Amino acid sequence: MKNTKIVTTIGPASESKDVLRALANAGMNVVRLNFSHGKHDWHREIINRVREVSLELGQPIGILADLQGPRIRIGNDTELRITEGQSVRVSDISRKDTLSASDTPTILLDIASISDALEPGHLLLIEDGTIRLSVTGREQDFALATALTDGLIKPRKGINLPDSKLDLPILCDKDRKDLSFVLKEGVDFVGLSFVGSATDIESAREAMRAELPEGMRLPEIVSKIERKEAIRNIDEIIKATDAIMVARGDLGIEMPESEVTLLQKDIIRRSLMSVKPVIVATQMMKSMTEQPIPTRAEVSDVTNAVVDHADAVMLSEESAMGKYPVETVAMMREIITKTEESPFDDVYGTLDLNIHSEYATLIRSVYELAKSFEAKAILLLSVSGFTARLASHFRPDTGILAATNDRRTYDRLALAWGVRPYLFEGDQKLDTFVDRMVDQAKEDGSLSVGDQTVVFLGRVPGERDMMRLVGIREIR
Ligand code: PEP
Repeated sequence: MKNTKIVTTIGPASESKDVLRALANAGMNVVRLNFSHGKHDWHREIINRVREVSLELGQPIGILADLQGPRIRIGNDTELRITEGQSVRVSDISRKDTLSASDTPTILLDIASISDALEPGHLLLIEDGTIRLSVTGREQDFALATALTDGLIKPRKGINLPDSKLDLPILCDKDRKDLSFVLKEGVDFVGLSFVGSATDIESAREAMRAELPEGMRLPEIVSKIERKEAIRNIDEIIKATDAIMVARGDLGIEMPESEVTLLQKDIIRRSLMSVKPVIVATQMMKSMTEQPIPTRAEVSDVTNAVVDHADAVMLSEESAMGKYPVETVAMMREIITKTEESPFDDVYGTLDLNIHSEYATLIRSVYELAKSFEAKAILLLSVSGFTARLASHFRPDTGILAATNDRRTYDRLALAWGVRPYLFEGDQKLDTFVDRMVDQAKEDGSLSVGDQTVVFLGRVPGERDMMRLVGIREIR
């Protein structure tokens, strides 16, 4: 089994049940639905197919609903050609009909009053940063900017304002509708695009809480790190979120491209220390959208993310609309497996844990025990998934087999590095889980007679204060 998980974006190239099954067999662990595209009926159909495939194969598949978020777009109705050095006005659609006439061309942003945030020195980056402008001054209803590049500005293209203090709600109207839908569908993870602060995460969580009946488990929030503002507030974001995505597409627009890999390493490190699953996303195998083999640089990129011990690597257009979705996942798995088997993967072990509690220390000792006895696996019980994630934090050489009675935990652990979940749905006989998990693990080949394991039973519901470390067990 590979330890690093694969998140796969689904689209026209991968929507059929046969391809979904082939993807799961090839190594896909989590399905990503990109809510920038597709109608609700389509998303519902994919969710149903994924669940059927998961049941058929007896393996967890997490579902990540990635919300579009407050993306700013060009609001002009027609194309506008600009040349380097040219002056332009930058305003927004709320002022479209009241702006004074001028010979200076005007770029309109599609969100009301957003141009108020533009101050001299701020950058405007259009269409993945290929067209760049710098703000030089302000008037009442618009900012003045100078083009730093030539370019053809097209309607609806995305624009990034990395230096501006944007006061945008993290959920736009479309996101709220999409959120209601995905809450009803019971997805495992919700991706929040353009997160800037912990407040964004709290307000999304509040919106989810308001929709769901009391006591019901919320989906986990995956905060996408793609803004300069998010880099500034990275620690508070990691603290507030449930999981992280290094969204390198937009991040590489807002931050210098030459720094993206270093930022990725830093974000992975911080996430690991806080026991928050971290996904590395975008352009990992991009050339496989068209070609049956990856470039050497792409292989190196995946290897690097594995060596850094990210929980997961992600595919976007490669699997959503590429010619070789299954081959891409299979290739990713091959790179992951070979990297994990190599001595170059062995650079962990020094990372501290940000959680200082008796429970975390106990799990550190479980990890140490497994290491010194060269155990084949750590066997544990994890009702909420937290115990399994804590064990995963140490990135042990041993496998982590986690028994749970909660289907949500089972599917969510699909994202956690190195964790192989086993489901005993709704069953309350927790004390029987390890024995039953061992039986299943012998059947699926995860364990064999003679293997040494370390069994850890932590908090058992109903016996909340009881911690039980059950030590070494040889499989018979
Ligand atoms: C990204 O920008 O890298 C990303 C994953 O976001 P999206 O593809 O949703 O824009």
